[in-house]
Amino acid sequence: MKPPKVILDFLDKYNDLKEQNQYFYLQEIDKIEDPFVWVKGKKKLMLASYSYLGLLQHPRINQAAKEAIDQFGTGTHGVRILAGTETIHNDLEGYIARFKHREQAIVYSSGYVTNLATISTLFHRGDAVICDKFDHASIVDGCLLSGAEFIRFNHNSLSDLERCLQKSQEYRNRCIIIDSVYSMDGDIAPLPEIIQLAKQYNTLLMVDEAHSLGVLGEKGTGIEEYFHIEGQIDILMGTLSKVIPAIGGYITGDTDLINFLKHTARGFVFSAALPPPTVAAAKMAFQIILDEPWRIQKLNDNVHYFLNNLHKVGFNTLQSQTAIVPLIIGEEQKTMEVTRFMQERDVFVLPVVTPAVPPNTSRLRMNVTASMDYEHLDMVIEQLIEANKVFHILN
Ligand SMILES: *Cc1c(COP(=O)(O)O)cnc(C)c1O
Repeated sequence: MKPPKVILDFLDKYNDLKEQNQYFYLQEIDKIEDPFVWVKGKKKLMLASYSYLGLLQHPRINQAAKEAIDQFGTGTHGVRILAGTETIHNDLEGYIARFKHREQAIVYSSGYVTNLATISTLFHRGDAVICDKFDHASIVDGCLLSGAEFIRFNHNSLSDLERCLQKSQEYRNRCIIIDSVYSMDGDIAPLPEIIQLAKQYNTLLMVDEAHSLGVLGEKGTGIEEYFHIEGQIDILMGTLSKVIPAIGGYITGDTDLINFLKHTARGFVFSAALPPPTVAAAKMAFQIILDEPWRIQKLNDNVHYFLNNLHKVGFNTLQSQTAIVPLIIGEEQKTMEVTRFMQERDVFVLPVVTPAVPPNTSRLRMNVTASMDYEHLDMVIEQLIEANKVFHILN
């Protein structure tokens, strides 16, 4: 049987990249020595990690996971609503709710599933979901699955958001859905103004905190702390797989919302409970964010140091103010060549090209973490200056 055309089209692109030695995906890591990883026996500085606070392999987190295995084993009896709920699941949800100053929380088996299941359970045909054009794929997929009218506004544009709100007044329920920090650009959503608009137009607000948990706010509790706002977001989402070194996702909000989701969200009702070691690791990680505030301080110092020094050379990092630092190169081919140059010099960095980002904004995406020291960041900048001599990134 001949493979479907989608597979053949993919193979063309895939084989091209391999032939040009520009395939950087699915690289196998043998060993982690944060901020380094070992790939094929070579030690590389890891700039593609979401472990922004360096909590992966934290001894207290590893210990908590091991104890949970000893107490409950490696899996559960099934889905949460039937036989899968254990004390540690409820403990984790309670901890998240308190951490985010909400009444209750629900955890799902991934961040992707959290958005998909929550959005498609809450909104349906006759409703409208109003999203930033740069929202994460899991939000987009949730919106499409919901059957609600899918309306998108220009990235971080309040005037375009207001235009969308004005023209969608006839829909039954409306929800603005945004990321707190955008995963390709590292910029922050203008939350206070968006809250204002949500109130003015009587619209729900959902915020995805995948890249702000542990990153924004002095205590690292997220975007509300950063803007000194509390309790104005109706549906607050986050993942357990970035700063939190586990897997899973959560929604936190008022009791009625969470109770509803626990009984109706298909990604919760028809998918097994998170494994005990994961749950215990996640809870301990939230605790460590609060116990070790120096990590947030160090992350912020690193981000400022890196951005300032990149700007001194003249590199374009868009509006990034966070741990995600895009380095704009423009052309896709050049971006791939610079990536290879950096990878060969033991900097583990990945390219982002269209369609993930708009045309002519191909970039390297470099994630700063609290495990790095200034000397590591200096090394990256030195190599980028060398790359610029060969590939002319500036101009
Ligand atoms: C990573 C990410 C997700 C998905 O989270 P996973 O836990 O990796 O499934 C959702 N939203 C945003 C903005 C993300 O960056």
